[in-house]
Amino acid sequence: MELVEHKKLRAKKILFLLKKNYGFVPNLFLNYSTDAQMLVAIILSAQSTDNQINKVTKKLFKKYKTVNDFANAKKQVFEKEIYSTGFYKQKAKNIISCFLIIKSKFNSKIPLNMSDLISLPGVGRKTANLILLNKGIVEGIAVDTHVFRLSRRFGLSKSKNANDVEKDLKKIYKKIDWPNINKLFITHGRNLCTAINPKCDNCFLNKKFDNNSNICLKIFKK
Ligand code: SF4
Repeated sequence: MELVEHKKLRAKKILFLLKKNYGFVPNLFLNYSTDAQMLVAIILSAQSTDNQINKVTKKLFKKYKTVNDFANAKKQVFEKEIYSTGFYKQKAKNIISCFLIIKSKFNSKIPLNMSDLISLPGVGRKTANLILLNKGIVEGIAVDTHVFRLSRRFGLSKSKNANDVEKDLKKIYKKIDWPNINKLFITHGRNLCTAINPKCDNCFLNKKFDNNSNICLKIFKK
């Protein structure tokens, strides 16, 4: 079993190489102009791709900009407008309820703390972490499908759910590194460490870390 200190050093090397290879990466790949739109884009992105969401929101966000706009949306019309993002009925219901609560309970301002955010319909820790990060507040690490998969392949977590993977990563990485993890793991997950057919032969993490271990612990053989 890998010692904690060894794992921390290996994790540091992983992050260093991801930064070196990918350079500047934005915190979010979704387009928006207002905080309300940011929240909607992140909720819509569940079970979809950022490209698809950006296509849908290009038109949607011309019509809806503020907390009021989303709170007053007509459910059936809104469902049609977000249809191609998948799970449109549930997403429309969550978004409208979410903004009605923001309007009545939070004075039409998106709350900027974890407990209030995750009390909103359709908002889990991943969404909350992304919102906070984009407002300059670091409370945790947003674990999406890429962060979940890569953390396990890297050998940084064996946990079977996103919340526990987040806890494992928070123990391994210093807080100053937390804002970099989501965006760099996602970028690597899209480029090389894809869910199907990861490109281990071309991967810069497929190298020796020391005499006992590779940098990435999971190497897929062809
Ligand atoms: S070596 Fe393979 S499994 Fe490991 S990070 Fe690279 S692509 Fe992913």
